[in-house]
Amino acid sequence: MLVLKFGGTSVGSVTNMTNVKNIINDGNKKIVVLSAMSGTTNALVEISETIKAKNITEAKQLIAALNDKYQDVIEELLQDQTLANEATAYILEVINTLLTCAEKPHNELLYNTIVSQGELLSTFLFTQFLKQQGINAQLISALDFMRVDKAHEPDNFYIKQNLNRIINNLPEADIYITQGFICLDAEGAVANLQRGGSDYTATIIGAAINAEEVQIWTDIDGFHNNDPRFVQDTHAISNLSFDEAAELAYFGAKILHPQTVMPVRDLDIPVRLKNTMAPAAYGTLITNKIHGEGIKAIAAKDNITAIKIKSGRMLLAHGFLKKVFEIFEKYETSIDMITTSEIAVSLTIDDTTNLSHIVEELEKFSSVEVDEYRTIVCAVGNNIVYHPDTPKLFQILQDVNIRMIAYGGSNNNISLLINTSDKVETLRKLNRYIFETELAE
Ligand code: ASP
Repeated sequence: MLVLKFGGTSVGSVTNMTNVKNIINDGNKKIVVLSAMSGTTNALVEISETIKAKNITEAKQLIAALNDKYQDVIEELLQDQTLANEATAYILEVINTLLTCAEKPHNELLYNTIVSQGELLSTFLFTQFLKQQGINAQLISALDFMRVDKAHEPDNFYIKQNLNRIINNLPEADIYITQGFICLDAEGAVANLQRGGSDYTATIIGAAINAEEVQIWTDIDGFHNNDPRFVQDTHAISNLSFDEAAELAYFGAKILHPQTVMPVRDLDIPVRLKNTMAPAAYGTLITNKIHGEGIKAIAAKDNITAIKIKSGRMLLAHGFLKKVFEIFEKYETSIDMITTSEIAVSLTIDDTTNLSHIVEELEKFSSVEVDEYRTIVCAVGNNIVYHPDTPKLFQILQDVNIRMIAYGGSNNNISLLINTSDKVETLRKLNRYIFETELAE
């Protein structure tokens, strides 16, 4: 069975929902995972923040605006009166849930309850739409099988057991529709897989049912070789290995949630990225196979904080890095890049929630410098560390200030830390040095 996930834009309008219907209605049994309609999760986050700020009147206005939007969607999407009435009743339920939340004290569970409504709405409406077209679709609630454990990792055993049981109990359905992003936590309360997490839902499901393939449908035709928002004439990359895709997703290529490939890589279940607006385009196929060598893509990740830790005690001493890492471990902050010299170590983080505590503890045995608003630009490709074309990348040293370079950490990634203000120029110049000279040769 295939698992297909459609992002917010793909279900963001009636025209796009019709495209999705045409893509999935091919007579093959499948699971379809949906995001919230585009703009909805952001609107829900805003409602949550407004409630947190105790602006209840404003929160109610935002909830009313959401209601109006969804009433319009029903009107355009559902002509069948019974299906439309059921949808209206469902939206009323969601709106009432939000209004009840507006009266309660704000906490994490309240936030999670509010943001979960987007996927609940999109999947309900889309299932009604499929039923209207005479398609044998069944809505299955992610909250009946998707659960994370105490460490916020997918509880794979629970998910596999429950999802397979649910599907086996509904053998007659052709298409199972379910929500991306939302799940239960270890205590059974509503939670989620973090923003953009619907991709992750799709591969967790893919692993649970041992799918033939997981397809992620968005509004772009796969991973591009550079950021199309800043660089002209980028192109989609046809084949990537799981390692290459994981690096690109983590280091900024917004098309895929960074954890997406993890559940399926060991099971060797391919992940295919496709464009809902251009279904005939090949997209990007991510598998265990390695295709070609050298730099395939460049991506950039903003909001990086660099920390330089300097200590005379590091000289010829062992155990210094252990001490440093233990502090990051204590504050559950992951480190992305790291370079060291004999008396200093520089590293980067992207989660600054506990930065002040980390700095305070580091300062007990070293001097610390913090640089915010940096960007990591990374080049990704199989074996780039050894490839004869890779030195072209370093022509960039003559153009911009590079604060750190991570080379050789893996064979697939070379990362450069720059000032965010230099990002666009860096991406364009690297494009010229790496890809355009290739064309000219
Ligand atoms: N709707 C959620 C978000 O906007 C999850 C997703 O679309 O993947 O972050």
